[in-house]
Amino acid sequence: MTPVLSPASEAEITALFKNAAIDLYGIVQRAKTKGTFYMYRLEQLHAIQDVIAKLDGDSKEWAKENIPAVMEAASEDVKAEIAKQNEPDFSFRFSGVPVEAVKVLTHQTYLDFGNTIVLLKKNAERAALNKLMIQRKIIQATIRGGSVASTQADILQAMKNDVQSVMYRGGQKVPVEAYINMLVRTQTMNAYNIASSQQMLAAGRMFAICPVVPALHRPPDDPCWKWEKQRYINLLKDPMPPWHPNCRHSLQPISLAQLKAERPDLYELAIAYFNKVAG
Ligand SMILES: [Zn+2]
Repeated sequence: MTPVLSPASEAEITALFKNAAIDLYGIVQRAKTKGTFYMYRLEQLHAIQDVIAKLDGDSKEWAKENIPAVMEAASEDVKAEIAKQNEPDFSFRFSGVPVEAVKVLTHQTYLDFGNTIVLLKKNAERAALNKLMIQRKIIQATIRGGSVASTQADILQAMKNDVQSVMYRGGQKVPVEAYINMLVRTQTMNAYNIASSQQMLAAGRMFAICPVVPALHRPPDDPCWKWEKQRYINLLKDPMPPWHPNCRHSLQPISLAQLKAERPDLYELAIAYFNKVAG
C-alpha cells in the first residue's frame, strides 16, 4: 500500500505553517522606528493579517489538491487489492469515490487549518501587544528585583514560544509545525479510510481487515490494540480509523475465501451483504 501522504506534501504543509509562525514572530519583534505607538500597532496588526490571509489561502490550496488525491489513491488501492484476490463470483463493481465525500473531507481539513490559523493570529496579536507594553516600560515598572535585561530576555523567549506554538485541548503547548504534522496525518488517514471503506462497501464488501502495524511507542491504553485483536472490522457498524491522533491504521480489503476460512460466522453476513448490494 502506498504511503497516504507523500513526504513532499507533508513537508510542504508543515513549512507553510512553520514559516508563517516565523514571519509572525518577526512582526512582533520588529522595533518601532517612526510614528506614534498607535500607528505602529496598526501597522503590526495589518502585517499580521497579511501573513494570516496568505497562510489561509495557501493551506486551503494544499487541502484542495491533497485530500482528493489521497481519497483517489485509497479508492485505487482497494480496486487493485480486490482485483488481485481474483474472485469472479464476487465481481467487483468499481464506483469511484463519491464526490460529496471528497467535498466534506476537504472542507473538514479547511476547518482544522482554520482553527489553527485563528490561534496563530490571536497569539501573534497578543504578543505584539505585550511587546508594546515592554517597550512602554509598563512591565519593567512592575518587575522588582531581577535585572531588567534578563527579564526582558525571558519575556521575549516566552513570547517566541507563544507565537510559534499552539495548544492542544489538554493544555500542552507544541510548536505549530508539530501540531500541523499531527493534524494532516490524522486528517489524511481519515480521508483515506473513508474513501477506502466507501469503495469496499460499494463493491459489496462488509468486512475489512485491521492490519497489525509496528507498535513503536504505542501506549497500553491505545485504542488500536483492541481493533488489531478483533482483526475484522464491520464497515457498517464499527468506527473507522484513525482511532486517535497520529493513528497509522488503514483498513484493507479481505477476500471472501479468506473470510470463509477464518471466520465462517462473518462470512455468512458478508455474503448476505454482497447479495443485497449486487442484487
Ligand atoms: Zn491506529
